[in-house]
This record gives sequence, structure tokens and C-alpha cells, in this order.
Amino acid sequence: MSTYRLTATRRAPVTKDYKAFHGRNFREIPQISRLSRELVEEIAVVSQVFPFKVNNFVIDHLIHWDDAPSDPMFRLTFPQRGMLGDEAYGQVASALARGADQFEMKRLVDDIRASLNPHPAGQREHNIPSLEGMPLRGMQHKYRETVLFFPSQGQTCHAYCTFCFRWPQFVGPSMSRFAARETGHLLSYLRSHPEVTDVLYTGGDPLIMSTRNLANYLLPVIEAKLPHIQRIRLGTKAFSFWPYRFVSDPDAPELLALFRRIVRSGHHLALMAHFNHPRELESDVVQEALAHVRDTGAEIRTQSPLLRGINDDPAVWSELWRTQVNHGCVPYYMFLARDTGAHPHFSVPLVRASEIYRQAYQQVSGLSRTVRGPSMSATPGKIEIVGVSNVRDERVITLRFLQARTPEWVMQPFFARYDEEATWLDELAPAFGDEQFFFERAAG
Ligand SMILES: *Cc1c(COP(=O)(O)O)cnc(C)c1O
Ligand code: SF4
Repeated sequence: MSTYRLTATRRAPVTKDYKAFHGRNFREIPQISRLSRELVEEIAVVSQVFPFKVNNFVIDHLIHWDDAPSDPMFRLTFPQRGMLGDEAYGQVASALARGADQFEMKRLVDDIRASLNPHPAGQREHNIPSLEGMPLRGMQHKYRETVLFFPSQGQTCHAYCTFCFRWPQFVGPSMSRFAARETGHLLSYLRSHPEVTDVLYTGGDPLIMSTRNLANYLLPVIEAKLPHIQRIRLGTKAFSFWPYRFVSDPDAPELLALFRRIVRSGHHLALMAHFNHPRELESDVVQEALAHVRDTGAEIRTQSPLLRGINDDPAVWSELWRTQVNHGCVPYYMFLARDTGAHPHFSVPLVRASEIYRQAYQQVSGLSRTVRGPSMSATPGKIEIVGVSNVRDERVITLRFLQARTPEWVMQPFFARYDEEATWLDELAPAFGDEQFFFERAAG
């Protein structure tokens, strides 16, 4: 059952030079010559549709090339054949082969993208706040306490995850991007919403920005000293994809000084770190990055989706949580892969996810049990799969909201008919012959 083994820590040299590869230049990656011709062709085809970007740190220190293409870090970053359905794959492959012009290719790719549920959970319609009737495109406000802010300069990442649910932001026309030019709007919104206590800066990855740009987004909020704004969170995958951000980048010292300044101002600062696999915590430079950030007084909380072929093994999760705790991080969420993009390729059925979570949880001490999940970020809220049980003669899945658009829904258990295959809320039916789930009734 425990197939995962931690390999020996590899010493990562301190690198100053970031180098990115994407669909057009990935053949220049030296290790690509170790892949079969078919595999290289598949990368070329699938990267027409999904964003693809990888960097020298991921290539040299995260991926185990001997195990590609099934290596989890390879699957995390390199496009794979299975991410596209057969029909779409065939269309793109033949367009590439016959040298279709860029307009034809764009039309084809746009159609395919539009069929992949690019805006799940009502991101585009429901969660956009407004100020005096004007929609604020660079923000989302779904759960009462927390506003999400998308700084326009932070809408990319040091590398891209193949399963990313924000993928349309990296490829889409500018209309479908969430971007805020002005922190001014954020401040006005916060001033008129005293119920908000947390601001979560997200992207992309806000830590793609220079410290100076990041400070321009953060300091106005800190200096406004709004009494209700108590906690600042930064969502980031930089610890994994570019840990030098906190260690040897030219403005790393200023970044840490900025964190210190926020903490000293009396705000709670939390880095919401995205780690999918224990290997991402192995290198010395990652561990140094975590220590530097913790030294500033910031907290590091960790989250990840559960992904087929990357971390769908209880031993991987228990190791992930234990290692995180050892480095001073607080395990926070296990998510289910969202129902967008290559979801069918990466999704794990809800029942299986619950089993993986339970087995992993059983293998760790209480210090790792701060984690919650597995959780689906669905339209009505974040829904936890509590487990499977038999009630009278019916086998049911118990669920509950960890977050809901309507705060009163939180923590009320509800029941779905047992379904071994279902991977998302919309595939579940209410148990006990009910027509609707309680929150559907409430919504009318
Ligand atoms: C997850 C999420 C949050 C943060 O929820 P917490 O449970 O406080 O971590 C806020 N807004 C949206 C839209 C989210 O998906
Ligand atoms: S780091 Fe986050 S936003 Fe960036 S590609 Fe990965 S999942 Fe998407």
C-alpha cells in the first residue's frame, strides 16, 4: 500500500538565473532528448490548448527524468496526451501536421477551450463584487470574511501546473482575465465592507512580482489601518517552483523585510503555500526558503488538490503533511481537482478521495490534523466529503460545507446517494429519495 519512498535530499545549487520553457522552445530542454518521439509530439499538441511553462529549477531539481512520463513532477508540469479528449487531440494533431495557419489554429483551440468549462463555480457571474454599481473585475468576494484580490501584475506563475483551474487566465482573451490595476478599488471596497476580515492576494502567483510591485499592492492596505482587516494571505507556489524567490533573488532580502513590516504592523500574515508532493519539500533551498519566511513572523499554511497520478496515495499525503509540519508549516486544505480543463485526466472519484484522506489522516499525529478535506470548491461553497456510511438500508456519502455563500449552511451535514464513480457535486443525487439537497431548496 505504501508505495511512496522519500529519496535522499538533493543539494540544489543556489541559482540566480531563472530560465523558462514553453510550447515554442521546450525542445531546447536537454532532458527532452531522453523522451520518446511520440511523447515529444504529444507535448507539442497538448501545449497548443493548455498553458505550458516550466523552468530550470523544476527541470533540474523536481522532475525525476528516469521515471518520466509517469513521474509525479513531470505530470505536474508537462502536458500529457490524456489531458485532451481523443477528438480534440486528433484535430489539433492534424492541424499541426498540415501546418495550419495561426488563425485556423486559434479558432480550433478557442473552440476546444470553450468546451472545457473554463469558468467553473460561477467565478465569472457570481463572485464579482461591485462598487457603486461598477463591477470590480480584479476581485472576488464569495465568503463573507474573505476578499480575493488578483493584482494584475501577479497573474502568471514561475511554472504552470497541468491541472490548474485558473488556466484560462493564462491563455484567454483579456476579458476572461481577472485583473485589478488599482489597489484603490480594493481599499474603497474594504472600507465599505466591515464584515471582511481577510484579504487573500492570489493569481497566478503574487510572488511572481518584484518586491517593489508587491509592496505597492500590499502597503496601502496595511497603512490604511482599517480595524476590520486583520489578516493578509498570499497564495503562492513559489516555494515549490522557484524557492530562490526567498533566498537568492536580488530582492529576496526586501521581500522578507516587507513580510516583517506587515507582521509588525499587527496584521496576521499567512503564505498559503501550494505543495502537491513531498518531493517539493526535499531540496535544501526549499527548506531554507521556508525557514526565512517563518523567521519574519509569517505563518505558512499548505494546500493542494488530490490528483490522479501525482499524489493519489495515502502514503504521499501523510509524508507531505509530516514534512510540512517538520518545517513549521500548517497543513490546511486537501482539495478535489476542480471541474475544469483536464479534470477528467486528473480527477479522483469522491469516494476514493475520502478513503485516501482517511488513511493518510490515520497515519499522522495531531499536529498534522489541522488539515481539512477532501473539499470541492463548487458553486454553492467549499464542500467536504465527510465519509461513507450506511444509514438504515442505504449506503450514503456524508458531506458538509466548510465555506458557503450563505454562512448558515456551514457545517450542516447532508447526504448523497452512494456513487463510486462521481467526481464532482453535480454528479451526486440526494439520498433517501429526496429531490433536492437542502441548499438547492434554499436557493429556490
Ligand atoms: C477558498 C476560498 C476562500 C478562502 O476560504 P478559507 O476557508 O477562509 O480559507 C475565499 N474565497 C474563495 C472564493 C475561495 O474559494
Ligand atoms: S501555481 Fe496555482 S495558479 Fe499557477 S499554475 Fe499552478 S495551480 Fe495554477
